[in-house]
Amino acid sequence: MILPGATIGILGSGQLGRMLALAARPFGYRIHVFSPEANSPTGQVADREFVAAYDDLDAVREFAHSVDVVTYEFENVPLATAEVCAAIVPLRPGAQALRVAQNRLREKTFFADNGLPTVPFAAVHSLADLQTGLAEIGCPAVLKTAVSGYDGKGQVKINHPDEAAAAWQEVGEVDCILEGWVEFEREVSMVAARDVNGRIAHYNLIENDHANHILDVSVAPASVPPQVLAQAEAMVQTVLTELDVVGVLCVEFFLTPTPGPSPWNGEESWLLLNEIAPRPHNSGHLTIEACVTSQFEQQMRTVCGLPVGDTTYLRPAAMANLLGDLWPKNQRKDAKAQREKSVSSAKSVAKSFPDWTAVLTHPHLKLHLYGKESARPGRKMGHLTALASSAAEAEKIVRGARERLVVE
Ligand code: AMP
Repeated sequence: MILPGATIGILGSGQLGRMLALAARPFGYRIHVFSPEANSPTGQVADREFVAAYDDLDAVREFAHSVDVVTYEFENVPLATAEVCAAIVPLRPGAQALRVAQNRLREKTFFADNGLPTVPFAAVHSLADLQTGLAEIGCPAVLKTAVSGYDGKGQVKINHPDEAAAAWQEVGEVDCILEGWVEFEREVSMVAARDVNGRIAHYNLIENDHANHILDVSVAPASVPPQVLAQAEAMVQTVLTELDVVGVLCVEFFLTPTPGPSPWNGEESWLLLNEIAPRPHNSGHLTIEACVTSQFEQQMRTVCGLPVGDTTYLRPAAMANLLGDLWPKNQRKDAKAQREKSVSSAKSVAKSFPDWTAVLTHPHLKLHLYGKESARPGRKMGHLTALASSAAEAEKIVRGARERLVVE
């Protein structure tokens, strides 16, 4: 067990690292963070911020020697960087989970190889592969770059086979996966954690609403029949065990309107696995207030070799993301410059943010801001969480509060 007083190293310095640091520090852990960015969301709350490129392996070695365990807060950490760390201290979750999660083709192949239901898919390395894939899968379909895509980036929907050449150009003629388009009823996710002794703790399913391919609102617990929850738990357990994850992992599912034949033990299933993330997930942010153990405490516990914590929901909850689009238009690009210019005037500093009054005066709302300097449209700047007596009521509160934040 890596006990308090020890240092957790985080590769990546965004909001997920920040929330891990904020969960681990009350327990007495120290936090070192490594990324190319200075004064990052994680760096602002860490004990030490290493600022260097991920391929600066000498700097990576210095970072790894300064900590007791390394984890990561995004899955696009170069494998070489992760492996350098793993040679010095435990890397949790290990490189296997990272390899699979980094590449959509490997990910879907992993699902298929383990009898986990997923969307129809084909590997695409050329325009000819794409045309063959479209003939097999049919339209509509979606072409996604195999690596580096997130929040809908590197994805093109294809409605007719004639659009193949344009789509292939649009993704930049790189290795891709072609997926059949799923008319899902809802999207749900399950966050789970696995400790060094192989014990797994699942959170109840979370229901997710996306806007422009970016997570918008999450609500938990999701209202699903008990057999859907049981299947999701068993599938997530397979993912965690097969990838030998020590840490937190989230599985995103499409929930189909009716159960269909599936490779899952010959059972019919409503669930199709879409994606995995070997780390806490945006949809799990509501566990901070809603559960006995948050997903970030769970990450701290598992990477430090402690047993998983209790995942019981204390109350139903909902979370709404706050994107840069909400920030006043003239302040978005140069919030940092504005703040430096107006450092002596608290009043003008406040103006570079939305007016938080409606949020802060509401007894059920919690505000999380990630400390990002510039607020670009589509950039995740923070989130709101509400707890209530029902999931529907919590959703109404967060959506209503966010609407009142819109500034012209
Ligand atoms: P992804 O980055 O692959 O999770 O895609 C982002 C979002 O695009 C998903 O959460 C879905 O809302 C939508 N999407 C992605 N793939 C598909 C698909 N094969 N069928 C239908 N919708 C999809």
